[in-house]
Amino acid sequence: MIKKEVLEAINEQINAETYSAYMYLSMSAYFEDMGLSGFANWMKVQYQEESAHAIKFFNYLTERGGRVTLKAVSQVPVDFDGIVDVFEKTLVHEIHVTSLINNLIEVAIKANDHASQSFLKWFIDEQVEEEANVEKILQTLKLINGQGNGIFMMDRELGQRVFVDPNAAA
Ligand code: MG
Repeated sequence: MIKKEVLEAINEQINAETYSAYMYLSMSAYFEDMGLSGFANWMKVQYQEESAHAIKFFNYLTERGGRVTLKAVSQVPVDFDGIVDVFEKTLVHEIHVTSLINNLIEVAIKANDHASQSFLKWFIDEQVEEEANVEKILQTLKLINGQGNGIFMMDRELGQRVFVDPNAAA
């Protein structure tokens, strides 16, 4: 049986992952409104990934005999100041999520919960990838410097992104 403090911290994380999903869906809507369907697709895949993270925590708690309790999701931003602003906010958010995962591991360590520490390793690796992906996009956006041709090509590239469900059996 999972300890109360770990259970509570993971329930908080389910809320945080759901917030992330909802925020990226909001960014997708913003890009759709700008006519940037490739950027919108990238954010929609991001939404699916974050939803899958919430489910991964959900399944883990269930497996450990813990009760999942869902809380209200805070209002997400709906207005942004252009493409770069969206990705700068995304990077700030992912760095924040990394700190949440690190705190979660601290809770598991204090509780001497080795199973949770092992489970959380996946998220540590995932956060390294999340931050790197966003940093790469920001770098490209800075090179393009708002030029129409570059944005058009980037929109086509980001439109290729496909969701791979981390919860699907390999
Ligand atoms: Mg996540």
